Amino acid sequence: MSLEHIKVLIIGSGPAGYTAAIYASRAGLSPVLYEGTQPGGQLTTTTTVENFPGYPEGVDGNQMMADFRAQAVRLGADVRPGFITEADFSSRPFKLNVDREKDIEADAVIIATGASAKYLGLPSENAFKGMGVSACATCDGFFYRRKDVAVVGGGDTACEEALYLSTLCRQVYMIVRRNVLRASKAMQDRVASAPNIEILWECNTQEVLGDASGVTGVRLLRKDGTVFEKKVDGFFLAIGHHPNSDLFKQWVETDENGYIVTRDGSSRTSVPGVFAAGDVQDPVYRQAVNAAASGCRAALDAEKFLIENN
Ligand code: NDP
Repeated sequence: MSLEHIKVLIIGSGPAGYTAAIYASRAGLSPVLYEGTQPGGQLTTTTTVENFPGYPEGVDGNQMMADFRAQAVRLGADVRPGFITEADFSSRPFKLNVDREKDIEADAVIIATGASAKYLGLPSENAFKGMGVSACATCDGFFYRRKDVAVVGGGDTACEEALYLSTLCRQVYMIVRRNVLRASKAMQDRVASAPNIEILWECNTQEVLGDASGVTGVRLLRKDGTVFEKKVDGFFLAIGHHPNSDLFKQWVETDENGYIVTRDGSSRTSVPGVFAAGDVQDPVYRQAVNAAASGCRAALDAEKFLIENN
């Protein structure tokens, strides 16, 4: 197998990865970016992005990521298809493998592999993704103004999403599988005092209902065996995210939920020369604009590291 030497390797093609590529290219670091299995990342699963500054009319998520990519390529980034299948950060240069085919080594690595929202796994949920089924209220809630929506989950994210939606929507149903919320007391209190949030306790989703126009409702099964339906236009998942850090956990420090730990407000991980940006290290904000900003930090941190260590 051939061994290629790369100065700055960027893993992941969301806003964090592409922004890191833009900055690293302009710094003359000849970055190579591997796009992974979902080129463009989570934004390619949404419709219109209205909260990224600079697009007064909003922008299609796919188009926005195509623009990020084009900008990185124009500035000299080498953007490639491919998935990193192995990583060894035990010594520098770091050793990695692409698609179980190609060995590479890198002086610095920026991990920008993102996070994946968890879904229930229902065929009907999959069928209406982007047509009423969403895993991000901040991204898509605006499209459900004065409509009725459901949020699945009982953790802090679900409460936060339900509270956000309650300011826009007519009625918000929280679908909670147990008879308690997992969320913090403060969040529970805020949900309890929102007049238009109703919690449907001990309920599991049997099916997301819809037609050619998108989601029209949801069929639920309560623990006592009752099956009933609610009319909703939006169905939001908030049952947790999974940071895409599994391949790197052996080497870099992660928190109890698998998010890569970065140091002192920087992108530095526990391994000098390995940096993390975007949702893989951000359990809190999870917004494209934050991911882009952290990609910028990672490129600047990598540049500084290479100057100090080469
Ligand atoms: P959590 O894992 O805390 O909660 C997930 C929720 O989804 C739980 O209520 C769980 O139910 C439910 N759930 C999981 N799987 C299913 C399923 N298949 N069907 C139905 N319901 C399901 O995830 P969060 O994303 O809410 O939070 C992750 C971490 O981030 C937590 O530590 C949280 O405190 C933190 N966070 C903090 C915030 C803040 O402080 N402002 C905001 C957002 C998150 P069950 O309880 O029965 O397991």
